[in-house]
This record gives sequence, C-alpha cells and structure tokens, in this order.
Amino acid sequence: MLPCLEIPIPRAIQVIMGKRKTVAKAAYRPSIPLQNVFSCPFCNMESSCDVKLDKTRNTGRITCRVCMECFQTRIHALSDPIDVYNDWIDECEKCN
Ligand SMILES: [Zn+2]
Repeated sequence: MLPCLEIPIPRAIQVIMGKRKTVAKAAYRPSIPLQNVFSCPFCNMESSCDVKLDKTRNTGRITCRVCMECFQTRIHALSDPIDVYNDWIDECEKCN
C-alpha cells in the first residue's frame, strides 16, 4: 500500500505525458489559494475589487469598493474569480 503522497510514480508520468497540463494543474492548485481580490482598472486602487461567483445562476460579479464600479459576466462551473476579472479588463479595453 503506497501512501497517497505528492510524489508521482515515474510510470504514471509516462502514461499521462500527453495530459501533462492537467497533471500540473491538479498538483499545483491546492497549494495556491485562489485570488479573488484585484486591482481596479478605474480608480487604480490595489486589492479594491472583490469577485463574487454565483454558480447557481452562472454569474460572476466584481465590484470595486472604492469607486463602486461593477461588472457582471457569465461564468461556468470551472470559472475562477480571475476569469471574471479578465472579462472585465477585456470589456474595459473594448470600450476604450
Ligand atoms: Zn475602483
């Protein structure tokens, strides 16, 4: 019985080499807390924007608590706060 450690088995790596991305992500994710506070593109305050993900309604909402600017976008089950933020930045760039 092997304990469930993070050390990968060499043979397993060979088998899943084609899916390396997935493996890296799976090993990577748990150690990194998801960022859900971002800098505001409007008032340029750091860490002033909070993201709320509403997965039951498939909406993500980001609000700046300094200038009250907000943005809402569609999300899916695997969306992260950063995706909402990126959408917002994209939207801002489109408007400019
Ligand atoms: Zn702001």
